[in-house]
Amino acid sequence: MKIFNLSRGTLIRIDDVAQNMNWDMMNKCEELFNRHNIKPVLGVIPNNTDPDLLKFSKKENFWEKIKNWQDQGWEISMHGYSHNYEIDTNKNDFFKLGGKSEFYGKSLEEQTNKIKKGLEVFDKNKIKIRSFFAPNHTYDENTFKALKLCGINEVIDGYGFQPYEEKDFVFIPQLFYRLINFPFSFQTTQLHLNEWTDTTFNNFKNFILSNKDKIITYDKMLSKTSNNIFISLMNNLLKRSLITLRKFKNN
Ligand SMILES: [Zn+2]
Repeated sequence: MKIFNLSRGTLIRIDDVAQNMNWDMMNKCEELFNRHNIKPVLGVIPNNTDPDLLKFSKKENFWEKIKNWQDQGWEISMHGYSHNYEIDTNKNDFFKLGGKSEFYGKSLEEQTNKIKKGLEVFDKNKIKIRSFFAPNHTYDENTFKALKLCGINEVIDGYGFQPYEEKDFVFIPQLFYRLINFPFSFQTTQLHLNEWTDTTFNNFKNFILSNKDKIITYDKMLSKTSNNIFISLMNNLLKRSLITLRKFKNN
C-alpha cells in the first residue's frame, strides 16, 4: 500500500466570479487558460449583492458565459449565495479562522434556504453544481447540514496535504493566499482577481508558465482523495500547526 503520494498538483480556483466583477482581468485570465489548456474552478456567486463587487460593471450574458465555460471543462462551484458578510464568527467557525460570514450563526432553515435558492439559479441556467465554498471560509455545523440536505458533499476549503474525507464530505484543501507550489501536496489556489493589478496578473502568468505541468483539473484533484491513517495524521498536524501559527500572528 502506498502510504504517501510523492507527487503534487495545484488546482486553480478563482473566487468571487459574479455578474459584476473585473471583466478585463477575467478576459485576460480566460485567454491565458485557453492558451495553456488549463481548466480552473470558478467560485460563482449565484445572487451577488456584495457592494464591493457591485462597483464593477455588469456582464449581460453572464450565465451564458458560465455555461460555456462549464461545457469546455471548467468546474463551476457555488461560492455562497449573496456574498454578504453579516455575523462575526469570533474564531468559533469550523476552521477557526474568524472574520465575518454569510452563513455562520444562521439557523439551519436560513442556511438551507440560501443554498437551495442558489442551486435554483444554477439549475435555471443549466449549470451543474457538485461543490461549494463559503465566503471568507466560514462555516458552522448547520452549514454542513444544509449542504447535505441540498445534496452537496464536496467543499473546496480545509487544512490538508491532499483531499480528505470528514463528516461525509470531501474537503479539497485551500491553505494559502499566495501562489505556492508546495512539495508533495495537492493544493488549491485562492485568486481574487477583482483586486488584481497588471503586475499581479504578470506574476500569475509567470507562475502558470513555470508550473504548467503541475496544474490539475478538479476531477484529478478529487481522484487524490485519501483517508489513509498517515495522510489523516499529517493533515491533523498541519491543521493544529496552522491554527497555532495564526493565533500567534493575531495576538
Ligand atoms: Zn469570496
